[in-house]
Amino acid sequence: MLLIPCPYCGPRPELEFAYGGEAHRPRPADPAALSDEAWAAFLYERANPKGRHRERWRHVHGCGQFFNVLRDTVTDAILAAYPVGAPPQELNAGRERQERGA
Ligand SMILES: [Zn+2]
Repeated sequence: MLLIPCPYCGPRPELEFAYGGEAHRPRPADPAALSDEAWAAFLYERANPKGRHRERWRHVHGCGQFFNVLRDTVTDAILAAYPVGAPPQELNAGRERQERGA
């Protein structure tokens, strides 16, 4: 079972969390000015990388807080967890720790 480190509660089982999609997606400044295609792209198109990905999660069966996670989609390793509003984690964050197997 995947343990997700909630920044507020500490490591908890994956079953306590809900996935919230890709993190750090800025909203359009003026949505009314977008074409239908651009609006649809904002609503539905998401990155689906093989490797490191910044994700939004919510601790629904715990503190209820939203937070962001840097996760490797190949290994499922969680490399960082940080509050919403904090700067995005660099995609190479924690690489040394992951390579050591920690
Ligand atoms: Zn929590």
